[in-house]
Amino acid sequence: MKQFFYTLFTFLLYSTSSLFAQNLEIIPLGVYGGGDESNLSCYLVGVENSNSYIALDAGTIRSGINKAIEKGTFHVSFETVLQNYIKGYFISHGHLDHLSGLIINSPEDSAKPIYSLPFVTAILKHNYFTNASWANFGNEGESPILGKYTYKKVEPFHSFAIANTSITAEIFELSHVNPQKSSAILLKNNSDYVLYFGDTGADRIEKTNHLETIWEYIAPLVRNKNLKTILLEVSFPNSQPEHLLFGHLTPKLLQEELSKLAQYAGLEHLKDITLIVTHLKPSGNQIELIKKELMEENPLQLNYVFPEQGKKISL
Ligand SMILES: [Zn+2]
Ligand SMILES: [Zn+2]
Repeated sequence: MKQFFYTLFTFLLYSTSSLFAQNLEIIPLGVYGGGDESNLSCYLVGVENSNSYIALDAGTIRSGINKAIEKGTFHVSFETVLQNYIKGYFISHGHLDHLSGLIINSPEDSAKPIYSLPFVTAILKHNYFTNASWANFGNEGESPILGKYTYKKVEPFHSFAIANTSITAEIFELSHVNPQKSSAILLKNNSDYVLYFGDTGADRIEKTNHLETIWEYIAPLVRNKNLKTILLEVSFPNSQPEHLLFGHLTPKLLQEELSKLAQYAGLEHLKDITLIVTHLKPSGNQIELIKKELMEENPLQLNYVFPEQGKKISL
């Protein structure tokens, strides 16, 4: 009898957990790393059917939401997505292609937190939410302080909750033309993880070990198949000279970095990873070239996804 109840209990546990399986999804609002101001880095991540998202960077907001509505990803108005669905922002660094959508749409936005490392808060406070540049929609800095956005300054490797979602996160520092910084965020929902990188150079070029530290840190999650989705930038094709990378990656440098992850996590686990390639710079035929170079030289057997603005990626 005891055995029967145990079996029943186990059955119920598994069937309810699969019934209420809450997978993460990603809705790209902008995917490029420059040039086209209607399509710059911004990725909404949330649990499916929850209508609650954290925006990872905010280069483009309005055009991205409108494109998502056009594609049938959202069935509500632009205002509903902006004001109700986006519960907060993570801003990786201070470059305009990662935050201009947030600044421009701030008058119509609702009150919410901005999560970042302290150096990003300082940039928002001193360079953008000022009377000379715009108006101070933040909760610190120049008067008048409108206080719509609450700065949540997070220390690296500290876990915190994304308010009004079931997601928790940790932020890591990156180097983006040393000593300029950028950052990455690791999101967690139940036992599922997603890792998003802001702009970053390779450790060898930047003369840092920020990426290697992250590879070592996430290796157990990759081995256990908890982390299967990584969003990482590739801005230039392989022909870009190393002294002109401006803190970005090429297909070759992406391989160089991920081979370190392979060493920590075990090569056989890398084929389970979906690598969402972000921040391609659309000039000339560069995008086609980058895609070709990634596909042709893929010794780690990575599974590449090239995100499209407004098109949902289910994880
Ligand atoms: Zn950028
Ligand atoms: Zn940048």
